[in-house]
Amino acid sequence: MTDAETTPQRIAQDGPRTLLVAWTDGHESRFDVRVLRLACGCAQCVDEWTGENRLDPASVPDDVHPLKVESVGRYALQIEWSDGHASGIYPFRRLRELDAHLAAP
Ligand SMILES: [Zn+2]
Repeated sequence: MTDAETTPQRIAQDGPRTLLVAWTDGHESRFDVRVLRLACGCAQCVDEWTGENRLDPASVPDDVHPLKVESVGRYALQIEWSDGHASGIYPFRRLRELDAHLAAP
């Protein structure tokens, strides 16, 4: 992937359930915020050694939403969630991969 594909130009809430990421290459990703919550890759949600998902989707409320979205340096987003989970870090590259994955038929 190129830098343009993994560098966001703009990050914004696009309605209550959608986070919009506009990338430097012109592509726009729209993420359902709950899908994003479930895709958290932090050590609490994914086992660091086995890669196994430790997050029980049933434990995440249907109306979960970001309270705060911040950039961490130039490589990731940190999202504080309404379910009390604040350690979620989403590297830009991973977000772009997630977008490609979600768009796949
Ligand atoms: Zn997490």
